[in-house]
Amino acid sequence: MENYNELIRLSLEWNEKINITAITDKDEFLKKNILDSLAIVGEPAIENAKRIMDLGTGGGYPGLPLAIHYKDKEFVLVDSVNKKLNVINDICKKLDISNVLTVHGRAEDLAKEKDFRDSFDLVVSRAVAAMPTLAEYALPFVKPGGFFAAYKTSAAAEEIASSNKAIEKLGARLSKIFSAGTGDDEHLIVLVEKLVETPKNFPRKAGEAKKNPII
Ligand code: SAH
Repeated sequence: MENYNELIRLSLEWNEKINITAITDKDEFLKKNILDSLAIVGEPAIENAKRIMDLGTGGGYPGLPLAIHYKDKEFVLVDSVNKKLNVINDICKKLDISNVLTVHGRAEDLAKEKDFRDSFDLVVSRAVAAMPTLAEYALPFVKPGGFFAAYKTSAAAEEIASSNKAIEKLGARLSKIFSAGTGDDEHLIVLVEKLVETPKNFPRKAGEAKKNPII
């Protein structure tokens, strides 16, 4: 495995200035942020991907550990809060990470842009929104034939079940759910396969997916 010590050190250092994570202990950080982020490694959905988006990346999770692991893949890390992206940019500079591009904006707005819409092989996202809302944020970015991977806790079963309608309306289908257990609190990765281009009326205007999810 790559050496993630420097990433942990820099993230914890930044965390004292701006809130990236509730975790302050190094070993816990390794387990909950690094290993959890890497739980998708080995899956064909990422192994076969070239261009990957991390939507609502915050301080760079799961995007940064994945970009360090997959140096030959291109990562676009998106967040609506610019100061978090400044942290990522600083870390990338210090660690010589050259396959990461940070993009500031809201999912609902960026999804209208030609370079982003229907154009990623994989979108990953952790701790951003409940599944029906998240599907509307993420799926418009995925290329038909590509995948969306939502990092969820095992408590999310109900939320996942309630996202069937959204997934279908957005041109996708549930592919599989697998356990990403990294210790005591089990995590799940929900893998959704995009089948056809997302209809033009999605995502709806900013805020709508959260206020009034497709259920
Ligand atoms: N994925 C990171 C951060 C989770 S916090 C982690 O697991 O540690 C959720 C992040 O999603 C926040 O940084 C927030 O700014 C971002 N976010 C929430 N809604 C968003 C939207 N509509 N578009 C872009 N980013 C969004």
